[in-house]
Amino acid sequence: MSETWNTRTKLVHEGTRRSQYGEMAEAIFLTQGFVYPTAEAAEQRFVQAGADEFIYARYGNPTTRMFEERIAALEGTEDAFATASGMAAVSGALTAMLRAGDHVVSSRALFGSCLYILEEVLTRYGVKVTFVDGADLDQWRAAVTPGTKAVFFESMSNPTLELVDIAAVAEIAHAVGALVVVDNVFATPIFSRAVEQRADVIVYSTTKHIDGQGRALGGVVCGTSQFIRKVLEPYMKHTGGSMSPFTAWMHLNGMATLDLRCRAMADSALKIASALEGHPKLSRVIYPGLASHPQHGLAMAQMGSGGTLVTFDIAAGKEAAFRFMNALEIAKISNNLGDAKTIATHPATTTHQRLPQDQKDALGITPGLIRLSVGLEDADDLIADLQAALAQA
Ligand SMILES: *Cc1c(COP(=O)(O)O)cnc(C)c1O
Repeated sequence: MSETWNTRTKLVHEGTRRSQYGEMAEAIFLTQGFVYPTAEAAEQRFVQAGADEFIYARYGNPTTRMFEERIAALEGTEDAFATASGMAAVSGALTAMLRAGDHVVSSRALFGSCLYILEEVLTRYGVKVTFVDGADLDQWRAAVTPGTKAVFFESMSNPTLELVDIAAVAEIAHAVGALVVVDNVFATPIFSRAVEQRADVIVYSTTKHIDGQGRALGGVVCGTSQFIRKVLEPYMKHTGGSMSPFTAWMHLNGMATLDLRCRAMADSALKIASALEGHPKLSRVIYPGLASHPQHGLAMAQMGSGGTLVTFDIAAGKEAAFRFMNALEIAKISNNLGDAKTIATHPATTTHQRLPQDQKDALGITPGLIRLSVGLEDADDLIADLQAALAQA
């Protein structure tokens, strides 16, 4: 609505559409279809729908559109398309832009389902994929070719919180004409404006920080209007991965507090990481906001924060890690992230269970590794909970 608005104002007001009733809260239009005043109007809408005209919820819906406009304004992209899940966003963005014979370069440290799409699905349709160590710019340089159509990476990796230098990889990719597709979930749209570092397409699982309360599965793809409306929308609307208006409505409510929540979580994450660093039962504490993180400088330049997750390694291994998790009282054992509730995950036996041991080793997923998604509880209470549980480990 206003170019001059700062983030928190956009998160409360941007994209709001009011009906003739002037409702204060964002309305939920729980409708799949729309009534046309005349047969001529229906014909015209199928030729070219106007900005405030809808045809079918798989193509678009007023509540979903509000969410798309709000997130595009936050991200600083021209447009956005909301999807049924984060995976619908990742697979939609990549499948819509690629065809047989194209080449993709991707970082190796990926969310399991993203790895499946690149390794299993795209290759099945004749797309060639090269994996690199995302933090090693020489590997990106060596891997791109004039046939490379896209590069893909998570700007902060799961679960070892390794960063990719978005601007540097974008320069390498753009030199061969490849699009830069970033999964920005761990970095959050609050701390990372990937588009400012010249990313072309930014995808989120909105299930995480954007919903923020672990209620709804959703996703979104942000990019230029040319990419979103001409490349992605035709693919999504015909293949059926659009977001439900109910989910969009929950996300609109969640976004009003997104900035406050992410900052509060990151403040607590830094306190927790600082309190745990050097603990005798831990062999390492990984948090990009700590000066000891090898990419601390890049994290500060790219995100201005270490983010909302802390990862640490219980030196004595799996049994000790399980004793630690079972002794937690406030933090819950689960595998979501970005939730108001603090969540502890044991990647080696859950999210990354299926990875062969050599890949676990390569990604640093050790038997004692714990990923903590820091929630909105009091930081001192969380530190006391973690320290008491560590005493049991
Ligand atoms: C959760 C997640 C996804 C998948 O999102 P869903 O909403 O679960 O489909 C993709 N990438 C990353 C980094 C994630 O954390």
